[in-house]
Amino acid sequence: MNTKRQIVQRRIIIISFWLFPLTIYHLSPYIAVLSGLEGVFAGCLIVFAAQLAASLFLGRAFCGWLCPVAGLTEMCGLMTTKTAKNGRARFLKYVIWGVWMGSIILLFARAGGIHAVDPMYHTESLLHGFGRAIYFGVTGIVIVLSLVFGKRAFCHSICWMAPFMVLGTKLSRALRIPSLRLRGDSARCNGCGACTKTCPMGIDVQGKLADGRMDDPECVLCARCADVCPKKALAVM
Ligand code: SF4
Ligand code: SF4
Ligand code: SF4
Repeated sequence: MNTKRQIVQRRIIIISFWLFPLTIYHLSPYIAVLSGLEGVFAGCLIVFAAQLAASLFLGRAFCGWLCPVAGLTEMCGLMTTKTAKNGRARFLKYVIWGVWMGSIILLFARAGGIHAVDPMYHTESLLHGFGRAIYFGVTGIVIVLSLVFGKRAFCHSICWMAPFMVLGTKLSRALRIPSLRLRGDSARCNGCGACTKTCPMGIDVQGKLADGRMDDPECVLCARCADVCPKKALAVM
């Protein structure tokens, strides 16, 4: 399956991965903690807030279409064909997120609140040895998890950003905000199973369509299932 949309999607996330050495501090959980210690609202916190706000309208499209780690997991596909299971390990990321966010809030409280906003906070240290160590540490973890548990294992179980977007998506549904989502028409489905087989997040798309419950917090709206469906039973819109 190589539709124009899928080619574009793959190119975007792979380019995003090549730019990761420059953007890593704007996605960094470590920099967020450091900024909390000093009471500075850093660039990464601005990005996390933007991810939450955007997910009200776009769900987890960032994960499907823009994230550098998505590009790296895509490239891991050259070494493994395994896709990580959408299993219980996914709950681990919420525990990580809860502890991390709780710590940041406490650190800001201890620092006496937000004293400054600095979108480029600490980015000068990207070029130093420590910045490189963080980069290779993160990419190494993603690669090892992909090879051992399958592509997107990091996304399912570790990622500290995913909960912001899951939260935004759930809020969007609760407030009935019109937003991008996976939709399906079960009457068209012939049960071929191609959608489930192609889903990078290991979602049982065919089963969800049959049950009439298309929403899944792990869906990154990449539209691969829609593009592979021979009956045009699925759409991201
Ligand atoms: S789950 Fe995290 S690492 Fe994976 S694509 Fe989304 S933001 Fe990137
Ligand atoms: S790919 Fe389309 S036709 Fe095949 S199981 Fe999925 S929804 Fe049904
Ligand atoms: S369910 Fe479809 S749109 Fe969602 S992640 Fe899987 S393939 Fe992508």
